[in-house]
Amino acid sequence: MLRFAVAGCPHTTPKPGGTIEGIKYAKKLGITAMEIEWVQNVPKDPKRMEEIRKISEAMDVTLTVHAPYYINLNSPDPVTLAASKRRIIDALSMGEIAGVRSVCVHAAFNLGQPPEAVYKNVYKAVEDILKQKKLFPHVNLGLETMGKPTQFGTLEDVLKISKEFDLYPVIDPAHLHARYNGAVNSTKEWDEMFDLYETYLGKASLKNVHMHFSGIAYGPKGEKHHLPLQESDAKWKDFITVLKKRKIEGTVVCESPLLEEDTLLMQKTYEKIGV
Ligand SMILES: [Zn+2]
Repeated sequence: MLRFAVAGCPHTTPKPGGTIEGIKYAKKLGITAMEIEWVQNVPKDPKRMEEIRKISEAMDVTLTVHAPYYINLNSPDPVTLAASKRRIIDALSMGEIAGVRSVCVHAAFNLGQPPEAVYKNVYKAVEDILKQKKLFPHVNLGLETMGKPTQFGTLEDVLKISKEFDLYPVIDPAHLHARYNGAVNSTKEWDEMFDLYETYLGKASLKNVHMHFSGIAYGPKGEKHHLPLQESDAKWKDFITVLKKRKIEGTVVCESPLLEEDTLLMQKTYEKIGV
């Protein structure tokens, strides 16, 4: 099954809001997955995590998490590096208690270093993080494809490192579209993207993806900001057709600023579209 996830609590979630209300309300709208946005910090209350797990299981809403933005696994500063690893481990272990299947991470900034050096540093950090695997045995560490050339996260980067550690990455075609200044916006390119994914991770891997999608504003320096689907140049219906034709399963998080509206638009289009 392919589920479309809302990126955080729906805008129209009744007050006082919060993740639990958000899950219940998403379900009411007909949405079956949610990405919890721990992008500023990771909550540390295991009891609350248990509650999130219970409600998501009862409602059959699949959960993923977005880890904090303040992460750089390529930092030369040992304090920043240690704090970055800590934030990821916290997100993974709290995610484990909350019943989350995968945690999305923006791994690193290149800081002008050659790609091989950055890869090596990210590799070492991931290796360290996975030494704590007993804290999050069921949660995937998903390194995301990133929207700016100054960031670690080409398609090859994240596939290669995921294969090394038996993980799966978070593919964000909108980020790739922005990173390459308008490319990756056609059936042919998405097919090539999924072909490469299969080459690295095997055919079965496309039955359990964690992806992002949205419209996006970009320039020569890559990503500027996310856009609603219908205000962007994204050929989003073609993208949905590719998902359906290839029978891809897992979660596609809709990262449009029109949270629930565009999530439902993607979901309804997916249901309707003929392949
Ligand atoms: Zn992200």
